[in-house]
Amino acid sequence: MLTKRLGSVIARRNLSSVSRVLSKSSIRPLNVRPKTGLSFYESFSRRFSISSKVNQSVEASFDSLTPEERDVLTQERAIDKVDVCIVGGGPAGLATAIKLKQLANESGKEDLRVVVLEKSADIGSHIVSGVILEPRALRELFPSSEHYDQNGNGIPLPSDIVTKCVKEEMKFMIGNLVLPIPVPSHMRNENKNYVGSLNQVTAYLGEKAEEVGVELYSGISVSEVLYSKDNNSVIGVATKDMGISKSGRPKENFERGMEFHARQVVFAEGCHGSLTKQIIKKFGLRNNAQNQSYGLGIKEVWEVPKEKFKKGFTAHTMGYPLSNYVYGGGFQYHFGENLVTVGLVVGLDYKNPYISPYQEFQKLKQHPYYRNVLEGGKCISYAARALNEGGMQAIPKLHFPGGVLVGASAGFMNVPKIKGSHTAMKTGMLAAEEIFKVVSEMPSLEELEETGREDLVEKPINLESYQKAFKNSWVYEELHSVRNVRPSFNSFLGGYGGMAYSGLDTFILRGRTPWTFSFHESDASVTEIAAKYKPIEYPKPDGVISFDILTSVSRTGTYHDEDEKCHLRVPDQDLQKHAEAAYPKWKGIENRFCPAGVYEYVEDKNSPLSVKFQINAQNCIHCKTCDIKVPTQDINWVVPEGGDGPKYSLT
Ligand SMILES: Cc1cc2nc3c(=O)[nH]c(=O)nc-3n(C[C@H](O)[C@H](O)[C@H](O)COP(=O)(O)OP(=O)(O)OC[C@H]3O[C@@H](n4cnc5c(N)ncnc54)[C@H](O)[C@@H]3O)c2cc1C
Ligand code: SF4
Repeated sequence: MLTKRLGSVIARRNLSSVSRVLSKSSIRPLNVRPKTGLSFYESFSRRFSISSKVNQSVEASFDSLTPEERDVLTQERAIDKVDVCIVGGGPAGLATAIKLKQLANESGKEDLRVVVLEKSADIGSHIVSGVILEPRALRELFPSSEHYDQNGNGIPLPSDIVTKCVKEEMKFMIGNLVLPIPVPSHMRNENKNYVGSLNQVTAYLGEKAEEVGVELYSGISVSEVLYSKDNNSVIGVATKDMGISKSGRPKENFERGMEFHARQVVFAEGCHGSLTKQIIKKFGLRNNAQNQSYGLGIKEVWEVPKEKFKKGFTAHTMGYPLSNYVYGGGFQYHFGENLVTVGLVVGLDYKNPYISPYQEFQKLKQHPYYRNVLEGGKCISYAARALNEGGMQAIPKLHFPGGVLVGASAGFMNVPKIKGSHTAMKTGMLAAEEIFKVVSEMPSLEELEETGREDLVEKPINLESYQKAFKNSWVYEELHSVRNVRPSFNSFLGGYGGMAYSGLDTFILRGRTPWTFSFHESDASVTEIAAKYKPIEYPKPDGVISFDILTSVSRTGTYHDEDEKCHLRVPDQDLQKHAEAAYPKWKGIENRFCPAGVYEYVEDKNSPLSVKFQINAQNCIHCKTCDIKVPTQDINWVVPEGGDGPKYSLT
């Protein structure tokens, strides 16, 4: 009974007491990281793997475990029944949850249970973004707010976490030359949008969600989708077991995951969600949509000297350091007090396997346009995350029996604007409205319990109305108008062709054309073999503006237990087999695309390849690039234990 009503107990408590309640039940406390008592050097080298730390396959097969171990691992899970279970506490998941509870509270259905499960230790600490916020969705979610001015204008967020954009520039960089590019009026940020840190904004949304009665569980990784007996609909999800050693055996602190059964499961995992990709495949949600295409965004936050800081200034750059055949661009945003975000997005459909997005970012910062701002400052934060670039063409079907996709789990990124948080939130709100219409007509959970009914729904809910609501929304209109911009960069003219077409499209055509450009197959499949290219010699980091990868990773606060089952899965965890398939053709591409130094090929005279493949999974910052880009498509990113991963701040 305790676990049955666990969520409602938690709903009435604040976040810190969530940890206490969960620790009393079968789930490990959330925001607690093991204290090692090690020296700084020891703790650094344990957390950030260097070559001597090898994560070779040591996994025992399930059949080779003792009967006791097998029993422990397969013991029955506690079940909690809720109305709506939301996987992912980012902007989309939280907007869905808030909207649902607002609707429920307004119509006297306060007992509607809405649960959000988030893998990061604290709400917001896995969020990476620019961010320039377009306030539209937030204003719709919070029509009245103490943060609006006397005329009701502004953004419903505290002024200490957002800065109004007051000046902006767009530049094209060729070598040291910096040329101005006009900004199309509908893409302007100046005096309209706000700069900040999306991880702080998400943490704030978490507080707002709790205020309306959302049950928010952070530090909980959702690892499994649960299906009905006939396997045709989603009935819930299960959280990841804790305390399994890297050999696959239960450790002393083993705790079985928990099941959440729900009338609707909302997948809000962000770009390339590990469960979302299974759902898309299982229900054929991409049958009438194109492949998703992605970019990798890498960023840092700097504290800069006062004289370099221009509060509310934003700039986007194209060209240097990327070649004409690599899509992407840089950005710098000035916000808060003397804080500057600097970043680079690299389209993951690059062909040359010697390209390293991380090293391109280091080069960007050395360009005088960026270097002049950063010099004399201090880098305080580093982060990386994949983002969707497929636009409208790549949006899958949004509903299936038992659940829906919202936010970046489905796509919705406006690529030319590099903005997706407003569309992520709005799609969550649209889904919430449609879910509420259906669920509010059903008997409450308590009524079901009283009548002893087991099933939460008589018939699985397949929310077609959400798809329609999306089609009629401003999100669709916005994405439709820019649908040809990103794919126009994929012609044989490369970046120059794309710039010419998108100039025409954004200033004059505004997407009012009868044609829609297509995307290529997948970002992995367009990668060419190394033999076609020369290795790229990137400059050594100076330790002042540019840094080596481990220094950057140390600024993410990432943590995974060393004795934890590897969450970067290759078939049979046979690293040699992966190396044999990948290394001869792509010469260590994994090492170059990973922005956290997780993958390494180290010299090994005894190997027929002369190298040995290693996975330093402790360094992983959950960007999902490996799963997207590896040409062999045999790396599967699965959730590690809850609370693991980066502990981002200001990202
Ligand atoms: C470098 C960069 C710059 C950007 N700049 C801008 C910008 O300036 N303006 C803008 O509007 N947008 C920008 N975006 C896009 C914006 O960040 C995204 O559109 C937005 O974050 C999407 O929100 P979401 O909630 O759908 O996904 P996310 O923000 O990714 O949140 C998903 C959440 O789900 C959690 N999660 C995932 N899987 C699981 C699981 N299985 N179990 C439990 N929890 C899980 C994650 O930890 C995360 O907290 C940028 C993105 C990047 C990467
Ligand atoms: S291992 Fe994969 S998900 Fe983790 S940081 Fe590297 S590329 Fe990103």
